[in-house]
Amino acid sequence: MEYEAVIGLETHVQLKTRSKMWCGCANAFGSEPNTNVCPVCLGLPGVLPVPNEEALRKTVLTGYLLNCEIPRYAKFDRKSYFYPDMPKNYQLTQYDRPSTANGFVDFEFNGAIARVRITRAHLEEDVGKSTHFDRHSGVDFNRAGVPLMEIVSEPDLTGADMAYEYLNALKEILLQGGVSDCDMEKGMVRCDVNVSVRPVGTQAFGAKIEIKNMNSFSGVRRALEYEIPRQIEAVKRGEKLIQSTRRWDDVAGVTEQMRTKEDAHDYRYFPDPDLMPSAPTDAWLASVKALVVELPLARKQRLMRDYQLPAGDAEVFKSNVALGNYFETAAKAARNPKAVANWIINNLQSKLAEANEAEAEEQAALGLELADMKLSTLADLKFPPAALLELVALVEAKAISSSAAQQVFIEMFDTGQAPAAIVQEKGLAQVSDTGAIEKFCDEAIAANPNPVADYKAGKVAALNSLKGQVMKLSKGKANPALVGEILERKLKA
Ligand code: ADP
Ligand code: ZN
Ligand code: MG
Repeated sequence: MEYEAVIGLETHVQLKTRSKMWCGCANAFGSEPNTNVCPVCLGLPGVLPVPNEEALRKTVLTGYLLNCEIPRYAKFDRKSYFYPDMPKNYQLTQYDRPSTANGFVDFEFNGAIARVRITRAHLEEDVGKSTHFDRHSGVDFNRAGVPLMEIVSEPDLTGADMAYEYLNALKEILLQGGVSDCDMEKGMVRCDVNVSVRPVGTQAFGAKIEIKNMNSFSGVRRALEYEIPRQIEAVKRGEKLIQSTRRWDDVAGVTEQMRTKEDAHDYRYFPDPDLMPSAPTDAWLASVKALVVELPLARKQRLMRDYQLPAGDAEVFKSNVALGNYFETAAKAARNPKAVANWIINNLQSKLAEANEAEAEEQAALGLELADMKLSTLADLKFPPAALLELVALVEAKAISSSAAQQVFIEMFDTGQAPAAIVQEKGLAQVSDTGAIEKFCDEAIAANPNPVADYKAGKVAALNSLKGQVMKLSKGKANPALVGEILERKLKA
């Protein structure tokens, strides 16, 4: 019998807000432990939470980006549990009345568009971070009370690669919407992976096995690549899988059992009496809807349609939003947007990366950490997007050769000078004056009897060596196509 995997993901995303969910403490990463704390996020007795509107806004915005319904009533519940990372002994979360529900995400997978339904995206609070030392443990509460959004998918995913692509698509959407910085290194996106297997062609789900707290997408993929065959082999052996929770050991590359359903928690959910339910008004919802941005996939499809870009180029501009915006600004008036895309992808990107590398080296020498460095971005370019368009136009009009264009580009990048001015100053204009080229051709033919004889004897390739001579004589400025034409005409005469 053949088996297939059924996978649903619960993705936790730290929202990009200035302050925490219920207090004014900074939502910041990397501070000294327990410096961004106050009586509210430490759960001291007698304190009252005040909801962070920006967090609510970003959750509802996510709902719109994920094609969700936005209910007119949402509330926060207390999820009770006892663990040192949660001083209140309950986590506030939207249990049965979330801010958003019933959406979907479309993304590219295996050359087609896949759709994963979104059960809900709800708001909750993050908890403290425990660190275990040799003989004691410590808890840092800087993260306690940071707004956390949980995006729950329906069990629509069918494999490790699909889960990986879904997560990447989700991350791109959240980044594009400005909802979260999604910095994996800072633990801003964490994921619980639910996976079961069933015989192909059947509908009923197998026992759900949850792999907890994954903090990298490639980890999710590897964990599933291990876990799916493990489950299939187990059921093939006749073993009966039971609902359970496992942990991923990234070093060993295996999942191992943590607990089964029998020791499941009873969280005793109940509505938080200190918080008003949220009942968004039409006006507020409209103001959030106004923040909706174009989704990455839609953007890619539009770039391919409107600018006739190949999928590869559009993909680059989809994942690098700033670069894509730059392209669109430059390409709007372009006759050949593909040429503009080539310059941006092949030249501008690498030149900027090169500049950043030099800047980083300089600043590292001054003792700066990477996070504190100021590296140039597209916004710091010395030339405007229109200059790139001008450069493309010069090449297309054959006013400069493509190798001269490379020189012009570097000069533009370094000095911000306009392309035409650089061409003039450096004398890079391509010679298309036939009279001048004829003279160079005559010279080359006279000075190179061997290639001339070869060509006349039928060795077509000999023309290239003559062409090279003419280019040399013209100091690289002759229009190569014209040179070819004229040489051929003269040799055939
Ligand atoms: P719980 O009540 O334990 O949180 P849910 O039914 O709410 O479980 O589902 C949590 C996540 O697990 C969702 O992403 C859902 O799509 C997924 N899921 C549920 N049942 C299964 C299953 N049998 N196999 C794989 N994933 C599942
Ligand atoms: Zn606080
Ligand atoms: Mg659930």
